[in-house]
Formats: sequence, structure tokens, C-alpha cells
Amino acid sequence: MEQIYTIPVNEAFDKSIADPSCGCPFCTLYKKLQSDNLDIILGASMMEPDIRIKTNKLGFCGKHYGMMFEKKNRLGLALMLESHLDELRDDIGKKLISIAPVGDNARKRLDSLAHTCYVCGRIEFSLSKMLETALYLYEKDMEFAKKFKSQPYFCLNHFNRLSSLAKAKMPKKLYADFYDDLSAVTFEYFDSLRGDIKHFIKKFDYRYEDEPWGNSKDSVERAIRFLEGDLEE
Ligand SMILES: [Zn+2]
Ligand SMILES: [Zn+2]
Repeated sequence: MEQIYTIPVNEAFDKSIADPSCGCPFCTLYKKLQSDNLDIILGASMMEPDIRIKTNKLGFCGKHYGMMFEKKNRLGLALMLESHLDELRDDIGKKLISIAPVGDNARKRLDSLAHTCYVCGRIEFSLSKMLETALYLYEKDMEFAKKFKSQPYFCLNHFNRLSSLAKAKMPKKLYADFYDDLSAVTFEYFDSLRGDIKHFIKKFDYRYEDEPWGNSKDSVERAIRFLEGDLEE
């Protein structure tokens, strides 16, 4: 397994054990990949022709346009937008010499553009390798298997991805053990979160005013993080 993936995976798992408020280790990896890729795209690689070919074709999603806009490299962004707009205008304005109905070409191009983002694509490429790396390490490295069981939780998005990947890749017996460990970590947190949300609601009843908050004070934000992944910056 390539070290470029095993090192960051181990680091994220260590970090979540040292500080459980870091939450799901794959959300940590996602955020790191996102911030690295945004830096790269608005930095050195911005003018590279082969990257420009890709950004012209794929564009970006709304979230990543927003994040690039916040990064303050407006000239870099403008240069990228200039060639993206030019190519897009050409593509959707093209009149095909065919019997295709008017507008089909534009619709096809815009439908596919709506589902592509250069940054999302780069993140997904690395993150899927990291998920595979975690399965590999779980099988081959006992220390890592221990780390896996000591995570604060896996968010539902990454729980589902790990579970599907393991089902597809692992031998039956190993998958059963893996799923036990994965669900033990996730469901324990899931249940404590449900308790915290109930307690949070109770605190709005004057009869429970003087009861301590316990762990419930930030339970609303933690529930959203658990449900949706911790995908914003
Ligand atoms: Zn996650
Ligand atoms: Zn995106």
C-alpha cells in the first residue's frame, strides 16, 4: 500500500484518538484534501495547461466556487473563469450539423456540467484510496485495527462508504468482524447523541432548568456533523 495514503490515514486516526472532538477521521481527511486542493488550484498549478483543460471542462460546484472566492486570489479565479466561460460558450453555442433538435447540445453539456467539479473530483480520487487504505491496514496491521476500534465515531456518510467498500472487497469472515467493529464505534456514538438531543430538549422545560447540561449543550451541531459529515471548513 502506498505510503502517500497510509501516513495521512494513520495521522487522522491518531488525531481523533488524542482529541475525540476531531470526530470522524475521514471527515478530517476530507477537509485536509479540500484545503490542500484549493491551495493548489489557486496557486502553482493554476496556469498549468493540462489542469486548465480539466477545469475548463469540469468547472466547480457552488461550494468550491464560494471557497475559492473567499481565498482572495481574484485574479487567479478570473483567469480560470475566463477560459472556462469561453469554452462553455463555444460548447453550448455549437450548432451540430445533424438532425438533433435545437438546444440538445447545450442541454447535454449543462446537464453534465451540473454534476462535475474539478476540486470534488480530486478530493474523491484521494479519499476513495484512503478508504481502501483503511481497510487494508485494518486487515494487515493489528495496531491499526486497535486504532479503528478507538475512534470517537464514523459519520453516517463515511460509515456507509466503509461498509459498502468492505462488503465488496473483504472475504466474508473478515467483513463480518469489520462490520462488527465499525458498527460498534458508530452506534455507540449514535445512541449517546440521541440521549444528548433528548436531554437538550428537556432543558427547555422549566422543570429541568436546574439540571446540568451534561454533554448536551453542543448536541445539535454534533448531530448535524454526524448526519451530514463534517464537510465544510
Ligand atoms: Zn466522516
Ligand atoms: Zn466541489
